[in-house]
Amino acid sequence: MAQESKRRRFARPRVVVSRCIEFDPVRYNGDMVPSREVARLKPFIDFLPVCPEVEIGLGIPRETIRIVRMDGGNHLIQPSTGRDVTEEMQSFTKKFIDAIPPVDGFILKNRSPTSGISGVRIYPSARPSAPVGHGPGFFGGEVLMRYPYYPIEDEGRLKNHRILDHFLTRIYTLADFRIVEEQNSFPALVRFHSQNKLLLMAHNLKGYQNLGRLVGSHANHEPADDLIARYREILLPTIAKAPTYSRTINVMLHSEGRFKHLLNHEEKAVFLDAVENYRAGNGTVAGPKNILKSWIARFGDEYLHEQTFFAPYPDELMEYPAEETERGRDLWADFLD
Ligand code: SF4
Repeated sequence: MAQESKRRRFARPRVVVSRCIEFDPVRYNGDMVPSREVARLKPFIDFLPVCPEVEIGLGIPRETIRIVRMDGGNHLIQPSTGRDVTEEMQSFTKKFIDAIPPVDGFILKNRSPTSGISGVRIYPSARPSAPVGHGPGFFGGEVLMRYPYYPIEDEGRLKNHRILDHFLTRIYTLADFRIVEEQNSFPALVRFHSQNKLLLMAHNLKGYQNLGRLVGSHANHEPADDLIARYREILLPTIAKAPTYSRTINVMLHSEGRFKHLLNHEEKAVFLDAVENYRAGNGTVAGPKNILKSWIARFGDEYLHEQTFFAPYPDELMEYPAEETERGRDLWADFLD
């Protein structure tokens, strides 16, 4: 179901999540992993929870498993029983990925020998020993291989506001793009490209230009599904890295240029001060962005009004430091009563 905002209708992202994070107590010890970020996302996202270790029949609770490097390759071993579950895990992972519908991202449990996407310890033997290296887990590693440039994060990294912001921007962009794929029409692709111009520009200018050229090349009358598939191939790496400060500033200055004949000197100066504060690290991007949003509303600029750059995901998911958003608690009670 689509989610409404004052400015944008959001498609609902579909995300695979490790089942032990906020869904079910399926960890080896019967615990569940708390994650404030995943808990907040639950009402907004269609999650597909999965626990590969339970799926291959290891049970709850269960003895732990670890990655062991032997015979020139990595194996998934249960040290207490000596059981090698490598093949079961590989076979389950392949079947699972082949069976799931198109998804927009993954949130996987960090440091798990199964679900981890990086930094998982690799041991030289099943006996107590120091790790000889680090890498992704068996399930997480296969996901990384099968979904290049996709938003794939672990719940630990999502605690960082910039990483969370980038992850949300990407999954909402890809959810929107899935609608283009479902509609399988050139006008739907043109609409998507047009509404995402500023967002793409902020992420990666070269990628934005390549995507623009691709849409413009429709003069060749390539079938819509081929064109849309090629667009996705460029879109994914284009938004894979977060925008830099300087590109974000360029996009905001470019947007302000549309109002240059409508603003007085003072108004422009207030905006440029807000941009400068953001550039100097004395303010967030919300300062200059909100000024632009007020001008978009005031002057009714339809082009900017439709740009996802100004609303990359629902406002309710915007993160602010707790001390900024605390409500109802009197922090001065001990001193002033
Ligand atoms: S990390 Fe993965 S395999 Fe381990 S309990 Fe969580 S979902 Fe299951």
